Amino acid sequence: MSMGKGEITVLRLGHRPQRDKRITTHVALVARAFGANSIQISEKDAELEKTIRDVVDRFGGDFSIETGVSWKKVIRQWEGPVIHLTMYGERLEDVLGNIEKGDVLVVVGAEKVPGEIFKLADYNVSVGNQPHSEVAALALFLDRFTEAKWAGQRFEGKRIILPSRKGKTVIDIDEGYLDREDCLKVLREAGCEQDVIKHSEVVTKLAVKMAEACEADQDLVRTASMLHDIGRSVTHGPEHGYQGGRILRKMGFPESIASIVERHVGGGLGAQELKGLGLPAKDLVPVTLEEKIVCLADKLVDDNQKVRLEIEIQKLMEKGLEKATQRVKELHRELTKICCIDPEELDL
Ligand code: SAM
Repeated sequence: MSMGKGEITVLRLGHRPQRDKRITTHVALVARAFGANSIQISEKDAELEKTIRDVVDRFGGDFSIETGVSWKKVIRQWEGPVIHLTMYGERLEDVLGNIEKGDVLVVVGAEKVPGEIFKLADYNVSVGNQPHSEVAALALFLDRFTEAKWAGQRFEGKRIILPSRKGKTVIDIDEGYLDREDCLKVLREAGCEQDVIKHSEVVTKLAVKMAEACEADQDLVRTASMLHDIGRSVTHGPEHGYQGGRILRKMGFPESIASIVERHVGGGLGAQELKGLGLPAKDLVPVTLEEKIVCLADKLVDDNQKVRLEIEIQKLMEKGLEKATQRVKELHRELTKICCIDPEELDL
């Protein structure tokens, strides 16, 4: 994770493979979850490496692990601040502002660390001067050091955990796509109303038919069209596309899906229109074939029924949305050409 200050590596000392397996695993998991890019462990432990790589494989991110490193060499060769977490150090709140930018090496011990570390480190930092644990010290340090930005990092793993009030909602993404049931779980968990869900199912039917005709990525279109209105869980205004992209990225969905969702409104919104809605001036006009398909399919479905495009165009004109009218017409022309059939003629 780039925190704008360079990368963060954790150096774990004194790991005893038999006794410390669990706690060193936790040090590595905390490092990964709270914004570090890698961990180096002074003792060789192939099993630990495998455990962490499996987590990275399932839950995503590009966190790396290396065991059996010479800690002296790592510290001596480190170009950037070396921060040793120890109950004997200076207070975290007194030191944080002094740490220079660059790649940082954060050292945590096990039972007892070699005295030499105190001299080799640029900063000996305490998280409170009471004895506790390397897991807690590392978590608190990373939270403060990253100014809590770790919470916004994106892992884009195969497995997504959706925050749930009760129980567990786990979504397994198969090569970036979801099946219908999982899409329904995501929509319900986000708080979408039933009529939004029904509308999404009809748009999906049409969008998949269009994808078939145009030889587009059908799985991508199916997933994104099921989720295209997820932003309606927070607003029914034209900004629901932008909000949908934001929600999906926060949940950990791949960019390909988030991007289709945020570009589906009104034939796509230009940067000035976004600005007019009080949002960042971002150009959200559909660019890829899949983005265009979901955008047009949405225009061809009103509520949960297919509708003639001319009716939707009429509505846009009555609202004085000249740009959107032109974009939708152009989208229709373009897709009719690519699909070799007018999408309006496709049966559901
Ligand atoms: N007496 C041991 C020492 O510092 O040499 C403490 C060992 S403690 C169980 C294991 C690790 O937890 C330490 O090496 C240190 O990295 C971390 N730790 C424990 N308490 C801490 C505190 N108050 N502040 C910062 N780090 C702490």
